[in-house]
Amino acid sequence: MVEGFLPAESQNLGGVATWIAGVPQFGFLGSVKTDGKTAHKIRMFRCIKCGLLESYAPDK
Ligand SMILES: [Zn+2]
Repeated sequence: MVEGFLPAESQNLGGVATWIAGVPQFGFLGSVKTDGKTAHKIRMFRCIKCGLLESYAPDK
């Protein structure tokens, strides 16, 4: 497992939530810097019996 994070602003673009590799670093305006970092779109699965969610961030 490697550390990553979910930038809050990526959730507001009408797209798919994205996982970013590494530790978040912040610009001087307080926004998180994601340029140059590896990004993976998140795929999420839900159990139809109990509602449990599992998330994956595959390479492709
Ligand atoms: Zn279940």
